[in-house]
Amino acid sequence: MTERASDPPDELVAGRLGPPPGAAPSGNATGLTLVATPIGNLGDLSPRALTALREADAVLCEDSRVTGAMLSRHGVSVTLIPLHEHNEDAQIPRVLARLAAGERVALVSDAGTPLVSDPGYRLVRAAIAAGLKVTAVPGPNAAVMALTLSGLPPHPFLFHGFLPAKAAARAAEIGRLRAAERAGLRAALIFYEAPHRLAEMLAALAEGLGADRPAAVARELTKRFEEVRRGSLAELAGWYGREAARGEVVVVVGPAAEEAAPEEELEARLRAALEAGMSVRDAAATVAEATGLPRKQVYARALEMGKG
Ligand code: SAM
Repeated sequence: MTERASDPPDELVAGRLGPPPGAAPSGNATGLTLVATPIGNLGDLSPRALTALREADAVLCEDSRVTGAMLSRHGVSVTLIPLHEHNEDAQIPRVLARLAAGERVALVSDAGTPLVSDPGYRLVRAAIAAGLKVTAVPGPNAAVMALTLSGLPPHPFLFHGFLPAKAAARAAEIGRLRAAERAGLRAALIFYEAPHRLAEMLAALAEGLGADRPAAVARELTKRFEEVRRGSLAELAGWYGREAARGEVVVVVGPAAEEAAPEEELEARLRAALEAGMSVRDAAATVAEATGLPRKQVYARALEMGKG
């Protein structure tokens, strides 16, 4: 691109006081503004986020103690309104009335980007449906930070958030992801997890997605004991089985390797089962379970192969 004589050099743009030309105002205009807050390091609250919060008529927050403490550190005093998983539906009409009256309302969560494994989606959907302005001040997010530090191919990626806490529901969910991979999904997978469930969750991922899959566990991001541990799912499951994880964690799993076409894989598995002496019925049942493919489809293919 040709630089015009009137274009200021980059370093002066960086040092300029006030917003660069064409930038949106630093604070929030009327409407709903989703404001990202730090995920650990308080220095990550951006100047624009602070202005948006300072200028808001009200700040919706998950826990007023958490948000109140953050704001008072910056000398900001503003009306805080609780908005969490359990009262979001009830709060929506009140928030929409404030917005319709021309107020500036900000939404924060306890940490990171609102809506990302945090409340706010239903409110945003309602505000959009009511034709009200919705904007955001972007900032910290544990999933994206973990992905970029993982050393794994960053895109496409699939952000899953938390897996179910109970073993059976978790295995079923991992099975659905594996079925999507069998159908061609090739993406890095990102999960949030509580530290006390990390070891069993990694073991379940190793079991469901493959022990050799490359992965990373990003812990305590932006904090004093930040750490990213990389290895196969089996290695990481073994490590955290021995060393209890502390703090907050994100798990990133590398994309599935290219596999034989599903039809070829199905045939190979059926052939092996039939050659091992299984009946057509047993071979179909075993292979359907292992591949996640519908039993009827596997049985039909096994019958054809059995005839052959
Ligand atoms: N909205 C947040 C965001 O944008 O990242 C996520 C909120 S979710 C309720 C909390 C989970 O995010 C934690 O259990 C952990 O999995 C992940 N997380 C948040 N902060 C983190 C950090 N500093 N280091 C690692 N993981 C973090």
